[in-house]
Amino acid sequence: MSLPSAPIPAAPNVDPAELAKFQALAARWWDPESEFRPLHEINPLRLEWIDARASIAGKRVLDVGCGGGILSEAMAQRGAIVRGIDLGERALQVAELHALESGAAVEYERIAVEMLAQREPGAYDVVTCMELLEHVPDPQSVVRACSALVRPGGWVFFSTINRNAKAFALAIVGAEYVLGLLPRGTHEYEKFIRPSELAAAARRCRLEVAEVTGLTYNPITRRYRLDPDDPDVNYMMACRRLDAPGEISP
Ligand code: SAH
Repeated sequence: MSLPSAPIPAAPNVDPAELAKFQALAARWWDPESEFRPLHEINPLRLEWIDARASIAGKRVLDVGCGGGILSEAMAQRGAIVRGIDLGERALQVAELHALESGAAVEYERIAVEMLAQREPGAYDVVTCMELLEHVPDPQSVVRACSALVRPGGWVFFSTINRNAKAFALAIVGAEYVLGLLPRGTHEYEKFIRPSELAAAARRCRLEVAEVTGLTYNPITRRYRLDPDDPDVNYMMACRRLDAPGEISP
């Protein structure tokens, strides 16, 4: 016998174990020597890359999976009108406190990106989604929601980690076991995403890939830099929402 046809809510697109990893570290978001050091170090690089393409001053920007607000605050300081969303309660508490201290005008909210996409379709000029896709069960769903949230012609920026032997060696063995840049277990190889896969996911929901750049780490100088020719490990992708009305394909 079939049940009455109430819509079955989709399982929330969140892995509780992934969220718990970040919850446990939340107090240290703004300590530049902590587990979040890599995010602090790449922040100026990604901010410049984003701003050079999307000119964020005065724009409505959504930072998806904002954590403690490292990028959100930097974008607000550039004059963007920033909203940061995440599902980590503690990260958001830290983000709010820090914004109070720094005076950064960022609005934070604990909401799934898919929910916000239903509430505010097309409401943003720019969406950033950094270092999140490799932590969610269904990255396509996040990409689709980001696309729905940006206005036609607007920009969506993703960053994640490539999936190949070099990425395994550097992002997991190197960063977590040899150099100790990140806690062990931060990343799972199977969740890494090749640029071709991310590009396909983007195109499926009317995002056109504009550019890809690698973000490389030199363990001798201990510095990160952008390298468009080396997206083998960490990389960013800039996309533009096609100016076509209508439904996003599933
Ligand atoms: N984007 C930030 C933080 C990256 S760390 C930056 O680059 O500086 C990853 C963040 O993703 C954490 O804050 C974690 O709480 C969040 N996160 C993990 N799973 C999530 C999910 N399913 N939905 C929203 N946020 C999630």
